[in-house]
Amino acid sequence: MINETVNSLWASNAIAEPVTVQLQGSINVDTVIIGAGFTGLRAALLLAEAGQTVVVLEANKIAWGASGRNGGQVNPLPPENTPATIEKHLGSKYLDRIAQTMLGSADELFDIIDKYEIDCQARQNGWLRVDHYSQARQASRATAKAWSEYGIEIQYLEGEQLHYETGSTAFQSATLIPKGGAIHPLSYARGLAKCAIEAGAVIYTHSPAISYTKKKDKWQIATTSGKVSATTVLVCTNGYSDALIPKLAKSIIPLVSIQMASSRLNEDLISSILPNGRTLSDTRRTIVYGRREPDNRILLGSLGRLSQRGDLKAFSELKEEAARMYPVLASVDWEFHWGGHIAVTHDHLPHLHEPEPAIFAGLGYNGRGVAMGNVMGRILAERVLGKSAADSPFPTTRVKTYPFHSFYKLGAKTVMWWMRSKDKREVNRA
Ligand SMILES: Cc1cc2nc3c(=O)[nH]c(=O)nc-3n(C[C@H](O)[C@H](O)[C@H](O)COP(=O)(O)OP(=O)(O)OC[C@H]3O[C@@H](n4cnc5c(N)ncnc54)[C@H](O)[C@@H]3O)c2cc1C
Repeated sequence: MINETVNSLWASNAIAEPVTVQLQGSINVDTVIIGAGFTGLRAALLLAEAGQTVVVLEANKIAWGASGRNGGQVNPLPPENTPATIEKHLGSKYLDRIAQTMLGSADELFDIIDKYEIDCQARQNGWLRVDHYSQARQASRATAKAWSEYGIEIQYLEGEQLHYETGSTAFQSATLIPKGGAIHPLSYARGLAKCAIEAGAVIYTHSPAISYTKKKDKWQIATTSGKVSATTVLVCTNGYSDALIPKLAKSIIPLVSIQMASSRLNEDLISSILPNGRTLSDTRRTIVYGRREPDNRILLGSLGRLSQRGDLKAFSELKEEAARMYPVLASVDWEFHWGGHIAVTHDHLPHLHEPEPAIFAGLGYNGRGVAMGNVMGRILAERVLGKSAADSPFPTTRVKTYPFHSFYKLGAKTVMWWMRSKDKREVNRA
């Protein structure tokens, strides 16, 4: 059985976790943050630096959610959307702000890492978005060109240059986004947590927020072992949003992403794979993404699913794909297998909500939360510190729930099968 949290490469080689304890008793602060992933930790750091008293409540451990499990790819292009679709959803005022914010998200993240000297194997070596068949190339180039008009540098690769950059002959075309890169996500989250603690924030782990009530002008958040009274609440629970605010949990679909990492491989065997240290992802519905680690492991991921018993599924399909892309990987030992939830929204854009007065939530990164979670943490902190809703990069929207949300798990197997079959047919047509 492969369940969600065990056996991740990151847990095996991350920097040490700061020491934290469970909340006991009652405390009173300016802001309480729920969730200790990238979003919550960045907000905690900024608020503590601004002189607020800040507490983070985390149900499990620091970065137990997606922030400690993801592919660590820093990808600064919005997923799915083009400038035209964003303008249609939100109008031209927000298009300009969102373009600036999302396209600048990689630089913002690497700047934080530099500023706080976070030890997380950060490398801004570029992201290769490879087209899984010839027709995908037209769409991905049109989208990339549209975004390049907002200032992001983009290059198109094919032929020999593409084969060299990827180390694979499985693709005919790709877009290279030089601003992209990679981090060790769990080390980064732990490093960020350490900075937040040093700035004065207190992180309580194993302290799930289970209810909220208003008492005079303060929110009271109850955990299983204590209580926090705060003027403002930030909900940073993304794909792990739970029954605390049920409508928030129903505003996203928590898709499952799986990952595997090989054992350390002989340099001769893999010297041609991603030789310039770029990250790679493809244009499939079920996306395959990967990177090469400094210690010569290959890491690959894809959409997967959870069985009714909670086992992660679709590793055999990912291994087949690994061997198709890189025949030398057909016989390697895949030492680590893990996965987690990504939060998908109906418009494929991150959402900023205020479900109750002075309770703010930021979530829905659609697989781009490594950079965007950090940006949203800043946006939430700025709201707490007085920036008006009208001046935010994202509009504060009503929480819109997915109809028939509770049926998504039942349908996931069929939808995955359909997406995988379509992807396979297209790849075979390439
Ligand atoms: C396998 C995988 C691969 C991915 N790969 C990439 C990638 O390569 N690039 C990219 O940009 N994005 C990727 N993502 C997405 C990215 O990891 C997330 O968007 C990002 O980490 C979200 O950060 P967050 O802080 O908002 O949420 P999370 O990191 O999920 O943190 C939410 C936290 O809230 C806690 N929580 C929930 N409810 C409560 C409660 N009631 N009380 C207290 N605590 C609570 C949870 O325990 C959890 O720790 C991937 C995700 C997964 C799962």
